[in-house]
Amino acid sequence: MSLSREQISDLLKMISTSESDAADCGCCFDQIAEFADAQLAGQPLDDAMRIVQRHLEQCCCCKFEYQALLDGLRAIEDDRL
Ligand SMILES: [Zn+2]
Repeated sequence: MSLSREQISDLLKMISTSESDAADCGCCFDQIAEFADAQLAGQPLDDAMRIVQRHLEQCCCCKFEYQALLDGLRAIEDDRL
């Protein structure tokens, strides 16, 4: 199977659209701690946090990291009480 020039440009468009729509893993990972903090504090999510949230919904890998972090933060909070 070979792709036509048009199909390739469509694919590239699709890829760049999805990238601008959701953060990539590295970018998301940088903000996971902030996102977890905001979630635990019950703060409203700003645009950057919403992008992280959307990425977490789509990416098992980051979601796993996030859950682990959340568990850790909760454990710390339980210790404080
Ligand atoms: Zn990810």
